Amino acid sequence: MATPVNYPHEQMMAAIIDSSEDAIISKNLDSRITSWNRAAERMFGYTEQEMIGRQIHILIPDDRKSEEERIIEQLKRGERVEHFETVRVTKDGKQLQISLTISPIRGADGKIIGASKIARDITQQKLNEERLAIINDLAQSINRKLDTEAILQLVTDGTTRLSGAAFGAFFYNKVDVNGQAFMLYALSGAPREAFDRFGMPRNTTLFSPTFDGTGAVRSDDITKDPRYGHNYPHKGMPAGHLPVISYLAVPVISQDNHVIGGLFFGHPKTACFTEEHEKLVVAIAAQAAIALDNARLLQEVQFLNRKKDQFIGFASHELRTPLTTVKGYLQLLSAGIISVDDALKRVTPQVDRLEAIIADLLDISRIQAGKLALAPEKISLQNLIKESAELVDLSSHNFQLENAKHDTLVYVDRQKFSQVLVNLLSNAAKYTPAGKLIKVSWSIVGENAHIVVEDEGIGIEQKYLEDIFSQFYRVSSSENQGKGIGLGLFIAKEIVEAHFGQIWAESEPGKGSLFHVTFPVNRMVTG
Ligand code: ADP
Repeated sequence: MATPVNYPHEQMMAAIIDSSEDAIISKNLDSRITSWNRAAERMFGYTEQEMIGRQIHILIPDDRKSEEERIIEQLKRGERVEHFETVRVTKDGKQLQISLTISPIRGADGKIIGASKIARDITQQKLNEERLAIINDLAQSINRKLDTEAILQLVTDGTTRLSGAAFGAFFYNKVDVNGQAFMLYALSGAPREAFDRFGMPRNTTLFSPTFDGTGAVRSDDITKDPRYGHNYPHKGMPAGHLPVISYLAVPVISQDNHVIGGLFFGHPKTACFTEEHEKLVVAIAAQAAIALDNARLLQEVQFLNRKKDQFIGFASHELRTPLTTVKGYLQLLSAGIISVDDALKRVTPQVDRLEAIIADLLDISRIQAGKLALAPEKISLQNLIKESAELVDLSSHNFQLENAKHDTLVYVDRQKFSQVLVNLLSNAAKYTPAGKLIKVSWSIVGENAHIVVEDEGIGIEQKYLEDIFSQFYRVSSSENQGKGIGLGLFIAKEIVEAHFGQIWAESEPGKGSLFHVTFPVNRMVTG
């Protein structure tokens, strides 16, 4: 066993003080510094020479100057002050959170002649505690909220505080229940007017990593970034924009891997955002995405619930109307007021209508259950169009079928695709006065077939051209009363899209409509 070396006591103490991580300072009762170790030099930025003989007040912020008097009083009474948390100022003016332990120093005669102070820098620890509190608070509150705007605001406020940004913004791409996309945004640290006139950030080279979800962008001075300042018309920040030098932007990505928005932070000084800030914001962005997804799901469920209620009311009304008519004729028949022939003639169309409504309703429930199974087969497009047209009574119209030069084989579900064409042609027949033109033409453009159903009917106003493809949507006009239940085009669209195609309409009220269907002729469609 090695023999312990006995160092002189003072030498040993000096070595301990010198190597301590804590600042160890001694002072006399006039508050003048009598010793200042290396850790004190590192922590406060003053050298030993600068500090010996100087009053300790230089380290105390103005609003805490009275603290020193209290400490001296306590020391004079011989009391020790333990782990007292306070704030001190460094040579370059930075405020440090410190934990102080102060003990009286007695002279040879036992009288108190000064004090030793041990100071530990707890700035980082305090910051971490504060961050943890913000994160906990944020995680709890966003998970409790199911309202998108409230979540956006909470996340923006929380991340702006965590990153120490001068201001933060959250841009969120909202898709409403009707599939319309628009952008919402929340701000923190800046009034709404500061942003309102600048519009939404566009997908420029600088913003694109955030919008396409590539990753975070963090810069100590964004004005020096090679991607900055090239975009028309502002070539950088538009005039009047809040000053941004330090920049941090983080994409917000949903669980199904869609970029749903971005968090942006700015500060007018350089180098404000650290890697740690970035990691914190990235972690919160992931939490925010989950909360926003939940809020969206709830809105969808609520919307579908309302739709379901509407649907039940609507379907029962639509089913009851022909039934009541049928019942009326049957009563007339049994009372001998009309003949059997007459009754059959009147009842049959009502029964056909009931059958058509029920077929549509069954299709809708299959679509909603995600069970629109396709049975694709290779068939002649020309035959498919001809067969479909034969299923619709176009005898009172001027019907024309204009075939392409060459027939082509298409890979589609025969019955379902025919249903699309039948629907378009029956609509044309329903909404076009007798004698007027109804025309089907088709062509092959590259890999795609393009079918056009044209009529000289009542037409559709521009503003309804997209809505007519939604469930139960009917343009309310006297001319189309009692002619349908607004499901045909919705079903047609679902079928065309299941074939990877598109359907859309062009129209001019009073002149007529064009319905277009395009789809890849050979794409394998799965059932
Ligand atoms: P409906 O069963 O009511 O015909 P659709 O979904 O097939 O339902 O059509 C939705 C709405 O679009 C119709 O109610 C009608 O207002 C309009 N519409 C569809 N096709 C035409 C057309 N060829 N001409 C004029 N309006 C049309």
